[in-house]
Amino acid sequence: MNPPRNFTFVGIPAQVIFGSGTLGQVADAVTSLGRSRALVLSTPQQIDQARDVAARLGPLSAGIFAEAAMHTPVDVTHRAIAAFHAAEADCTVAIGGGSTTGLGKAIALRTGADQLVIPTTYAGSEMTDILGETDEGEKTTRRDPAIRPELVIYDVDLTLGLPVAMTVTSALNAIAHAVEGLYAADANPITDMMALDAIRAFKTGLPEVVANPSDHDARAEVLYGAWLGSAVLGSCAMALHHKLCHVLGGSFGLPHAETHAIMLPHTAGFNAVTVSEKLRPVAELMGGTVGGGLWDFASSLGAPLRLADLGLDEADLDRAADIATRAPYANPRSFTRADIKTILTDAWRGTRPVT
Ligand code: NAD
Repeated sequence: MNPPRNFTFVGIPAQVIFGSGTLGQVADAVTSLGRSRALVLSTPQQIDQARDVAARLGPLSAGIFAEAAMHTPVDVTHRAIAAFHAAEADCTVAIGGGSTTGLGKAIALRTGADQLVIPTTYAGSEMTDILGETDEGEKTTRRDPAIRPELVIYDVDLTLGLPVAMTVTSALNAIAHAVEGLYAADANPITDMMALDAIRAFKTGLPEVVANPSDHDARAEVLYGAWLGSAVLGSCAMALHHKLCHVLGGSFGLPHAETHAIMLPHTAGFNAVTVSEKLRPVAELMGGTVGGGLWDFASSLGAPLRLADLGLDEADLDRAADIATRAPYANPRSFTRADIKTILTDAWRGTRPVT
């Protein structure tokens, strides 16, 4: 018997609508929040989807702001807030990936606006109270209850056209939330359940999506995993893996999802030495060891495996290790700068982890 340890469960605050064709509920969802003027947010690449949302909102639409950008630059946020006030909006509807969700969060933090999010990737920002922003090249991250979106609509139909390469890296990004949730200091039996089911859903659904990207059932399985991964990210403190990816993205400009995809087998393999019991289900699901199994899974899906392929110079690894060990932070396995350099070097070369 393995009885539950002491724990605190704070609940999952956001309302979630999940399914196929659920975008059709967007107007009712805005009304259910007690709001009547929604500013629709997107990237320039997804403006057509933003127009579709605005059309579905009809008189509830206060307009479109389609300038969301990677890493939530504050100058974009200031322009969006000006548009929000000019349109006399009282809430936002963000349709897109983590970058668009980030813009909605940045507006909410500064205006108190309610947020409705319609995710189209698996990055998993929508269920969290975390906001990363960039100002003059500096990326800062904060957690605040005001950041967390009130309502999330997951519509499988919107993910059918997500390109396969993005599908794979975005899904591995979501698996990373679940893996780090399993050994988080504030994990509890509910987050454990969600994390394990997320990994199971991706292990089952992702190969089928890669083989047939418009397979509706497989896409639904994967989107369900993304929701669970996001809920874990929003409930648990992350550790070494997210820290290293933050350094590589924030200080070296590496792309978010690809970096997570490459780093996960190495960080999970490193931590598996200390938390082998907690990560045993990951090894069982993936086959082999934790790091080796995750690497084989990523490799079988055609994921990028080498930081070198993302344009990182070998000479940058020392500076990355310095930045990553400048301030202490929680991780189940203690580490030295040399350990971090080894993890980064292995990820740079694309070596298969053995642990
Ligand atoms: P993204 O939002 O930057 O999207 C990348 C590109 O793909 C964009 O041009 C976008 O418009 C496009 N796109 C999105 N969905 C698409 C679809 N279905 N079909 C075709 N194109 C589509 O990428 P992302 O990986 O979703 O998000 C990364 C960002 O999110 C990073 O800045 C990261 O820091 C942030 N993030 C934040 C949290 C959090 O909790 N704060 C969590 C995860 C990620």
